[in-house]
Amino acid sequence: MALEAAQLVAGLRATFVSGKTKSYEWRVSQLKAVVKLADEREKDIIGALRSDLNKPEFESYVHEISGVKKSCKLALKELQQWMTPEKAKTSSTTFPSSAEIVSEPLGVILVISTWNYPFLLSLDPIVGAISAGNTVVLKPSEITPATSSMLSKLIHEYMDSSAVKVVEGAVPETTALLEQKWDKIFYTGSCKVGRIILAAAAKHLTPVILELGGKCPVVVDENVNLEVAARRIIAGKWCSNNGQTCVAPDYAITTKAFASKLIDALISELEKFFGKEPLKSQDLSRIVNSNHFNRLEKLMNDEKVSDKIVHGGQRDETNLKIAPTILFDVPEDSLIMNEEIFGPLLPIITVNKIEDSINVINAREKPLAAYLFTDEKRLEEEFIGSVSAGGMSINETTLQVTVNSLPFGGVGESGMGSYHGKFSFDAFSHKKAVLRRSFAGDAATRYPPYTPEKLRLI
Ligand code: NAD
Repeated sequence: MALEAAQLVAGLRATFVSGKTKSYEWRVSQLKAVVKLADEREKDIIGALRSDLNKPEFESYVHEISGVKKSCKLALKELQQWMTPEKAKTSSTTFPSSAEIVSEPLGVILVISTWNYPFLLSLDPIVGAISAGNTVVLKPSEITPATSSMLSKLIHEYMDSSAVKVVEGAVPETTALLEQKWDKIFYTGSCKVGRIILAAAAKHLTPVILELGGKCPVVVDENVNLEVAARRIIAGKWCSNNGQTCVAPDYAITTKAFASKLIDALISELEKFFGKEPLKSQDLSRIVNSNHFNRLEKLMNDEKVSDKIVHGGQRDETNLKIAPTILFDVPEDSLIMNEEIFGPLLPIITVNKIEDSINVINAREKPLAAYLFTDEKRLEEEFIGSVSAGGMSINETTLQVTVNSLPFGGVGESGMGSYHGKFSFDAFSHKKAVLRRSFAGDAATRYPPYTPEKLRLI
């Protein structure tokens, strides 16, 4: 396995050294190939996502296929400009001179992807890597096997196979890949494995981007348009892969006085979306596998919270389905409040004053996303200024990740580095500092002998 991995990297390095991937034309051809793949094989992609996650067709299209196409189309539109060296100011020390920042591809990139958006989170980093002129290996998640084998087949069919490769597999295959020397590793997944990636990368001094997770809070103030707020919380939690989303609201915070109103609004909107028997709804993804189903059951069965379920709680182990579930007033030391939920359970905790929610959030690790619903400008500013998170939305959930002019990435335990739009191009480029001078203006002051007069002139 190690030998195969070494040969794979050597082959890609030879392609990179040939210079082929650096040209604008090659990059454009590969971006167009991804769009073609997404257009022509839409049915296969939707089928694989249905098979792996029972992902509704609407969500597969809007969250995965169209996300990839959007990234390609932006890159196709902007690439010429992104590749153009950026003029930089010079100082009197170098006068006369000019300077520029040249974006140079890094070389051979490893992308290790995850299972919750297995199409988007595999191809989106590849779009960044090829836009920047690199060769790349994708290791999709073994937890979504239909999408993994589809990606392997389609990427080899549509893209330049001397520059873009897919290696399917689990821990042994990934370990063999991690032993190789890469020019950058882009990893999406858990903090636990993130640490393994970082340690492996350190051996070769390879830079990494870690797109991790965490517990994303949503704070709901009393003065909000409750119907809209409830719908948007539901959209981010249950209409996005049934809670199996890194930026989904993990837990909600509101005031003691307002909690029952928030719960009623959430229940009322949930019933409109998924009916009274949500396990039968075709608009809810299933839990990805029995390990994750059992993990979520354990969170619900924890004796500290088992009597705290105020809505939902139904499950169907055979079909790996769990209904949207709300828990109220869960203790801080319960399991559900101490690990990332990554599923359809939403615990709600309360504070006396809504401002206290900021301390509750800041007492935990920095989340990938934080959300606030309020009509009060002062609270909004305090939240933005005081809560550290990868990103945030005010009066919305999750949509910050769809704005390509915003960077997407974590901070602290939720990750390092970012991508999306131009940030993806930058993530896979080295910013090379270039100073240009002519032979004119060669001041003698910088050369020995270092006389006191010369020092005075500086
Ligand atoms: P995971 O870390 O278990 O798996 C992700 C990848 O790592 C897979 O390709 C897997 O094969 C590989 N892997 C697993 N164990 C490994 C090991 N010991 N050595 C080397 N490679 C290994 O993560 P997951 O369960 O697939 O994903 C869930 C986590 O991912 C959640 O925490 C979620 O928040 C996070 N996530 C983050 C983002 C983001 O963009 N920030 C997106 C989706 C998911």
